[in-house]
Amino acid sequence: MQVAIDGPASAGKSTVAKIIANKLSFVYIDTGAMYRACTVIARNHGLDYGDESGILKAIDEDGIELKSENGEQKVYSDGKDISLEIRTPDISANVSQVSALAGVREKMVDLQRKMAGQTNVIMDGRDIGTTVLPNAEVKIFLVASAKSRAERRLLDFKERGIQTDQTVEEIEKDIAARDYKDSHRKISPLKKADDAIEIDTTSMTIDQVVDEILNKIKK
Ligand code: C5P
Repeated sequence: MQVAIDGPASAGKSTVAKIIANKLSFVYIDTGAMYRACTVIARNHGLDYGDESGILKAIDEDGIELKSENGEQKVYSDGKDISLEIRTPDISANVSQVSALAGVREKMVDLQRKMAGQTNVIMDGRDIGTTVLPNAEVKIFLVASAKSRAERRLLDFKERGIQTDQTVEEIEKDIAARDYKDSHRKISPLKKADDAIEIDTTSMTIDQVVDEILNKIKK
């Protein structure tokens, strides 16, 4: 079975996807982490974020690996754990430029489909229901107000131990800018699939969102 969860930044996709994956023993794949890893690789190689061929070569050299360690998803590249690095504001600010590159998307979508393979999978991102897994049995599109998403992101930074001097307002602006870029790129923009169910999580608890999605999956 394939479950696709898409939506704008910080709508709670990965939080609920992880819980559901644990409850159902599905494999969880965080596709945003993969595009973030591409951005870290580009930066580490001193490349321009628009240098498609350079970035593709660097990805081939360093590789991207998602590993599950003690129930946590870790991201490795070039033998190093970059799980924290991929979440820093600098990477968040540049990931939309890298993820808009046709070659990068092709490479990542290919990897994502291979990872999904024949197992039960829950995958979150921006184009899962529309492009990566168009035949997913359950497609969810999670949305929430920009303010609540910014508040969640700040909380997430604290929980992950990422230092930031950004205010909620600044984070809200960054999120809106990223959503704009992700929704307006040429290839596979952030978009609700026609057959996806939209859930507004602004005034819902995590448990409520999880239960609603679990009900859809069970149906
Ligand atoms: O989900 P997360 O916020 O970590 O995603 C980071 C970025 O990766 C997004 O803003 C978007 O540019 C890109 N992305 C994408 N397609 C996906 C998942 C993420 O383009 N399926």
